[in-house]
Amino acid sequence: MKNIILILFIVSISLPAFAQNPSIKVLDTDFSKGRLTNQQTITLQDVAKFHGHLCDGLAVGFLGLREALYKLYPDTITDRTNTRIISKSSPCLTDIAIYLTGARYQFNTFYVSDSIKYAFIVQRTDNNKTYGVKLKAGVKPPAIDSLGALANKGKLEACKIDILHQLENNFTQQLLKSNPKEIFIIEEIKNYTWQPTLQNIFMKTDILEIPVKLSIVFRFKVSSAFRSKLSTPFRSKLSTC
Ligand SMILES: [Zn+2]
Repeated sequence: MKNIILILFIVSISLPAFAQNPSIKVLDTDFSKGRLTNQQTITLQDVAKFHGHLCDGLAVGFLGLREALYKLYPDTITDRTNTRIISKSSPCLTDIAIYLTGARYQFNTFYVSDSIKYAFIVQRTDNNKTYGVKLKAGVKPPAIDSLGALANKGKLEACKIDILHQLENNFTQQLLKSNPKEIFIIEEIKNYTWQPTLQNIFMKTDILEIPVKLSIVFRFKVSSAFRSKLSTPFRSKLSTC
């Protein structure tokens, strides 16, 4: 029995332990006119409160950007007064980008572009060192992207939304158990030129299914007279699985 306990102990300490709530240490100023001495720890759950929910996109963004920030600041913690970032337009990625780096459009430290070939391009402003980061191909289950694309067009039935939700939850758990060093591509970009552009045309894809939530509440209460008054797309969302 003692041997079994000993073996289990050895196995448990030899396995990599990746956190369910990953975190990163950052540096900020300590008051409105303060000095750069305020060290804080930011967790995935902190960003989830800002974002509205925990999701696979948030986990991808947090884990991937953290790896890139480790490369940018190899000898110290991430300085949120010295970092700027370009993010793809996903609502999850953009929220991760500004929360982890402290970057903001109005200070010329953040902008959004879908033409970059990474999820993020992140740069130190003191030395212009720049990294691009993205998930390796094949890590994300393709069904999430195909069902997600249908949902963005309003063409995914209510019950399949639930399937997509479960797929994304499973993928989030898979990500949190993975070694981030093995699932992301992080590349240094030499002589990267910062060329911010202001665009406010991006779709906030995580609010498109709000009528579905209403359909759950009213699924058995909506009268046929009320249904007939609803617009066609809204009416289709009220259908049961
Ligand atoms: Zn999200």
